[in-house]
Amino acid sequence: MSTTEYTPPPNFIRTIIAEDVKANKNNGRVMTRFPPEPNGYLHIGHAKSICLNFGLAAEFNGVCNFRFDDTNPGKEDVEYVDSIQADVRWLGFDWGDRLYHASDYFEQLYDYAVQLIQEGKAYVCSLTSEETRAYRGTLTEPGKDSPYRTRSVDENLDLFQRMRAGEFEDGAHVLRAKIDMASPNLNLRDPVMYRIRRVTHHRTGDKWCIYPMYDYAHGISDSIEGITHSICTMEYEDHRPLYDWFLDALALECHPQQIEFARLNLSYTVMSKRKLLKLVQEKHVAGWDDPRMPTLAGMRRRGYTPESIRNFCERIGVGKKESTVDIALLEHCIREDMNKKAPRVMGVLNPLRVVIENYPEDRVEELEAVNNPEDAGMGTRKVPFSRVLYIEREDFMEDPPKKFFRLSPGREVRLRYAYYITCKEVVKDEKTGEIIELRCTYDPQTRGGDSPDGRKVKATLHWVSAAHAIQAEVRLYDHLFSVPNPADEKDGQDFMAHLNPKSLEVLPVCRVEPSLKGAPAGSRYQFERQGYFCVDLNDSTPDKPVFNRTVTLRDTWAKIVKAEGK
Ligand code: ATP
Ligand code: MG
Repeated sequence: MSTTEYTPPPNFIRTIIAEDVKANKNNGRVMTRFPPEPNGYLHIGHAKSICLNFGLAAEFNGVCNFRFDDTNPGKEDVEYVDSIQADVRWLGFDWGDRLYHASDYFEQLYDYAVQLIQEGKAYVCSLTSEETRAYRGTLTEPGKDSPYRTRSVDENLDLFQRMRAGEFEDGAHVLRAKIDMASPNLNLRDPVMYRIRRVTHHRTGDKWCIYPMYDYAHGISDSIEGITHSICTMEYEDHRPLYDWFLDALALECHPQQIEFARLNLSYTVMSKRKLLKLVQEKHVAGWDDPRMPTLAGMRRRGYTPESIRNFCERIGVGKKESTVDIALLEHCIREDMNKKAPRVMGVLNPLRVVIENYPEDRVEELEAVNNPEDAGMGTRKVPFSRVLYIEREDFMEDPPKKFFRLSPGREVRLRYAYYITCKEVVKDEKTGEIIELRCTYDPQTRGGDSPDGRKVKATLHWVSAAHAIQAEVRLYDHLFSVPNPADEKDGQDFMAHLNPKSLEVLPVCRVEPSLKGAPAGSRYQFERQGYFCVDLNDSTPDKPVFNRTVTLRDTWAKIVKAEGK
């Protein structure tokens, strides 16, 4: 990925790694990994983890492995496998030839399990799942030893081998680590290492009918690959003793250090894959890549740039305390990026027809418009002007209140890059009373948008020439949920109860300037005064272009920062 001059702020993980490197721990080597479970699409929370793992590796001249944690067949899918890789690449990271799968190690994991059995550190348990739960105890009471805990090594070896061979029903037995049923840490109360599950695995097919549990497979996979720092989210803090226990019990040479950090939560959305899957399955959104989703695929379709997401991940920092980041910060980051990059164009979302009565019928002028006032290098373009135009319906009011400075009967305004116009007459539909057209005049002296006599107008409107404009569909988005913390189910309400019914507004007949003809899917623009837009990756066609609004121009984050005097 491209490097910038910018030095990222310190965080406690960076400090730990820097000290390890200085002390020549692991011979100064740094190797991290990103271990997604292919049971859903990646979301912005994963982006935090990706940026952290790949970022730290790059910073310390190390590498970051990409490993699918594919120990849970059934919930996993090749669609997810493909999307996850595409999303990490899109975000700007490269794992070279270091693409791994926990399933690459199934044979080795099995052998290690046999070793633990031989050393009396694991046993086959035949309690039912209800019994297992009852024996487990609670946070305040110790658990009880399973009656199968004392099985002989030989019996365990025989049963485990037969579990693998498919001699038993699903759930008939499990393999458990023999640790301590009275441990205050429930994760150490003889955790399950293997369960029998007759589920076809997307890579190993039907080769296995026993599958290792995450806690068992993860640390060993880390160790096999030579990972030095195994970075994960806080919910694994209580699992760390178990992570260490397996590696110590097997006396593995490489013993990575697990370090936990607080996961990213974002306001007005949910981040759990289970919840996102529910939104998809119940069709509250159009798919995992619906532009309202917090998934990377959704954000890409919405028009977010990888740079803006990486910048966001850098700015939120890395800590141990759980918190919710204001989605306005993410939107601020995309605006900042687009402000520099996106060419400005004119697009009218709710068109109102305007006829310039004193403009010749057959005349078309090509007026010069600036592509980006932030960047002169982006040049200029020509925009056609003619007798019949469209302006934004909300830029006109027949009976304006005091503070409305845009067009109204008798008032003069500027058309951006064009002329001053004055509204002379309002034409209405006879039946409905709806305003269907404005009759205006223009002042030929004001070409380019300036008056030679210094006459001031209070508003500048965007517009398009009716005969030249392209018709387009525009999709406007709002937060997916109407409350800041929909996942907070403390009030007893399911998160689905907070879905925002107005999160998507489709405007089927918008008019955009002709320079947008043939705009490729994924290209991004600022529609003056309306926000940043991007050509939809799925639904847009040359005949029927579709634009997604990425974000409006109103920077609520900048306002918050200003108010707090930050
Ligand atoms: P979920 O609980 O939603 O299913 P997960 O944590 O199980 O998510 P994984 O695919 O296992 O999802 O995650 C891969 C990596 O991304 C893990 O290291 C995990 O800790 C990290 N990760 C997942 N969600 C977040 C988040 N919200 N913030 C930061 N890191 C995250
Ligand atoms: Mg997980």
